[in-house]
Amino acid sequence: MREYVTAPAEATALDVGQGKTDPGAVAPWRQYRVKVPINRRDFLRLLAAGPTAGAVSSSLGCSPDPGMMQQPVRFAGSIRGEDPTACHLRVAGRPVLPPLEVTEPDSPLRDVLIIGAGMSGLSAAWALHKAGVEDLLVLERADDIGGVSRGGHMMGAPCPWGAHYIGLPDPDSPVIMHLLSDLGVITDFTSDGHPIVEPRYRIHKPEANIYHGQSSSVGFYPWALATHEDLVQMRAFRRHMYRWSRWRDPQGRPAFQLPVAYASPAEEVRRLDGITMAEYLDGEGFTSKLLRGYVDCRLTDEYGCVASEISAYVGTLFWAGTGGEHHVPGTRPSHIRAIAWPEGNMFLARRLAALLPAGAIRTGALVATVGNVGQEVRVLELDQRTNRPRVHRARACIFAAPKLRLDTIIPELVQAGRMEHQDLEYTPWLVANIMLSQCPEHDARSLAWDNLLHGSWSLGFVNGQHFASPGKDSDDPFLITFYASFSGERRRVMRRDLLELPWATWARLITNELEHIMPDVRPSIQRMDVWRWGHGMVRPAPGLLWGGVREALCRPLGHIHFAANDAGTLPLYEEAVYRGVSAAEEVLTELGRPHRSLVEATRERLD
Ligand SMILES: Cc1cc2nc3c(=O)[nH]c(=O)nc-3n(C[C@H](O)[C@H](O)[C@H](O)COP(=O)(O)OP(=O)(O)OC[C@H]3O[C@@H](n4cnc5c(N)ncnc54)[C@H](O)[C@@H]3O)c2cc1C
Repeated sequence: MREYVTAPAEATALDVGQGKTDPGAVAPWRQYRVKVPINRRDFLRLLAAGPTAGAVSSSLGCSPDPGMMQQPVRFAGSIRGEDPTACHLRVAGRPVLPPLEVTEPDSPLRDVLIIGAGMSGLSAAWALHKAGVEDLLVLERADDIGGVSRGGHMMGAPCPWGAHYIGLPDPDSPVIMHLLSDLGVITDFTSDGHPIVEPRYRIHKPEANIYHGQSSSVGFYPWALATHEDLVQMRAFRRHMYRWSRWRDPQGRPAFQLPVAYASPAEEVRRLDGITMAEYLDGEGFTSKLLRGYVDCRLTDEYGCVASEISAYVGTLFWAGTGGEHHVPGTRPSHIRAIAWPEGNMFLARRLAALLPAGAIRTGALVATVGNVGQEVRVLELDQRTNRPRVHRARACIFAAPKLRLDTIIPELVQAGRMEHQDLEYTPWLVANIMLSQCPEHDARSLAWDNLLHGSWSLGFVNGQHFASPGKDSDDPFLITFYASFSGERRRVMRRDLLELPWATWARLITNELEHIMPDVRPSIQRMDVWRWGHGMVRPAPGLLWGGVREALCRPLGHIHFAANDAGTLPLYEEAVYRGVSAAEEVLTELGRPHRSLVEATRERLD
């Protein structure tokens, strides 16, 4: 039976230096032999050996588990997700697309066209519809809505294929308050204006465990491995973030808030965007390897990247932002902040779609070209089922798809000298859903919602059993969702490997990771499906948020307006929603439609 080590009380106290542990003493909870899963470096060396399972296994001399690539795979599975060639617009036999100006449109002039049915495009459609715009059409390339918040089913069980949770909404973010109230996630407000979230959607205890060899710790920090110095630094880090969370500018705005547009633009805070989180931690003297590993793990979970790759502003936002994680006593009630659903954030996408007029979304519609022609916008769509081009017209358009190769879709950007999108980089992600015949080894309820691996190439898995009703037998089949992101300098190589490696290689690598949490898991695996996101998350690199790139990306071009989370340069649903609603309000103004702004009413309560 595995033992779970909880945080010692003195490690969570804010009064640094008041802890009771003797300096230099080995913590009494550090009593386990540590066997480490494959770390990121070994994993990258392993994949560098080549795309076949044989080549991978031959490079495993450095791996703690050299036999794993020879293990037979005795369960079924597949690679899921969009065909990357379709995403890259390199469809064999694709017709030569006509220029927009000379093409006779096949559709009537609409009020608004929206490109992309992810959280941002759907939020834009929601805001337009709320303001009375009925004549709108959302064009979506994939065969279903959701974008990277896509979810679905596996062997009859609901599962996420991408984004799977949101944080407790900030009462001072009106856009999010309105949206989540309309979607039935917020059911009411307390007398002091705090949202009450439908209890079924709240994550409960145990929220997270982190596994390190044969020991494990409760929460996200490996308490069982910590020395006295590690604990001192962890306390100091918490105090540091606590101070940032209490910071206010003369207008009363916090240093960090989601969406970022509501936060203070003070120079003192913006300065953090000029350096990486790793440089910031160095400067503040946070040298504990365990603390730095914890920071990397949490940032990878949230943004897909480690501290050396993201802006210190974005890193600090995670701990000190009111929409981010709050473990710090004194700022908020110390409840768990995560809200989630068995199908992940697809729950939100489906509820948004249900609020739109019938026929407002067209899937399988790849947009190839967008341009201003006279007083209208023309959009050339390639029907994914028939490969037939179709030209749409609208008074305004919202581009709510990722900004990859944007200049090939909107050639006018080149003439306008608007090439900011080339500053964006995207991190690949892998998500796998795994159906287990039963929970191996121990009661599924002893697993947390989030089960992380310390120092490994993957993040571990999220436990679908967490959503089961209390009466459900823990011996029943249940589903877990595995997550890994591939950040760092090898991002491009990893993207290629991600797309080229066969399913069986991923099945072996992922099984090996699961065995570090549940050693007897292998015979229980019934099926494993793998979903690859080649350009899953925009990387919030230093300088993007406050260095002018974000503003430039969001500036309209004629009647074309820009949304999606990468326009805000932050891979979070709050930014996706905010960007969608902001673009919708720009369009409403352009169309001369009177509306009550959801974005500008910053302290507004719901009607
Ligand atoms: C694996 C993963 C996990 C994540 N987990 C979380 C999480 O738990 N919580 C969270 O807040 N955020 C998470 N995120 C971040 C996520 O990016 C945002 O939350 C949000 O879902 C982004 O929505 P979006 O609409 O901006 O972009 P997208 O979801 O990328 O939507 C863009 C849409 O445009 C479509 N499209 C693209 N090109 C075209 C074209 N040419 N023609 C027509 N349509 C096109 C795409 O198919 C897609 O549907 C995660 C991201 C990834 C990759």
